[in-house]
Amino acid sequence: MLYLKICSQNLRPKKLPSALENDPHYNITNLKCRVNCSFYFKIGACRHGDKCSRLHNKPTFSQTIVMPNVYSNPQHNQTESVISDQEVQLHFDEFFEEIFVEMEDKYGEIEEMNVCDNLGDHLVGNVYVKFRKEEDAEKAMNALNLRWFNGRPLTCDLSPVTDFREACCRQYELGECTRGGFCNFMHLKPISRDLRKRLYGRSKKRSKSRSRSRDRSHRRRSRSRDRDRRGRSGRY
Ligand SMILES: [Zn+2]
Ligand SMILES: [Zn+2]
Repeated sequence: MLYLKICSQNLRPKKLPSALENDPHYNITNLKCRVNCSFYFKIGACRHGDKCSRLHNKPTFSQTIVMPNVYSNPQHNQTESVISDQEVQLHFDEFFEEIFVEMEDKYGEIEEMNVCDNLGDHLVGNVYVKFRKEEDAEKAMNALNLRWFNGRPLTCDLSPVTDFREACCRQYELGECTRGGFCNFMHLKPISRDLRKRLYGRSKKRSKSRSRSRDRSHRRRSRSRDRDRRGRSGRY
């Protein structure tokens, strides 16, 4: 509250609020307004949640929606008996395909979908779906908030994340993250290659069949997206 007042008067405080005095991440140059939470801004989730001393700027429009805590990795569930990596992959691919296909059929074309394999409360099982159009994301969010999944009501929000490269843990992608499941950057669980081809090929096929009714600029965007995807293949 103190910060908001300072911000509106465009003044700097003489003394830092005690919550920030001992914060090693605090940076005086950021103090033009209340400090934005860089974790929320980049990753769309922060371990402090609503209690964070920094600002979580929830977007009013976004191409991306997030459904927190939806995917449950059977390997992380202590009560399950030992389950092989192959079985986990199969289970994950099925989960991923079900959500992807339903979302794309009901709400609109998907640019990418990502699922976190982290263990921290704010990231565990989070599913991010980035639609090509913001309107589709909004439509999906409104509909999904009335839905249930696996016997639990779904919650769905717009997410500020549009660039997943920024949100991902680079060390995890190299197999070198020492923070494990409790890392605060996204550990995105990869789907199998075949499924990737099948799912992301769907929209390519659809774009082709619809191309007559589409305008030129849209087709140009589709092509650049495909190029981009080829360039990044193997990242996720
Ligand atoms: Zn935060
Ligand atoms: Zn990590």
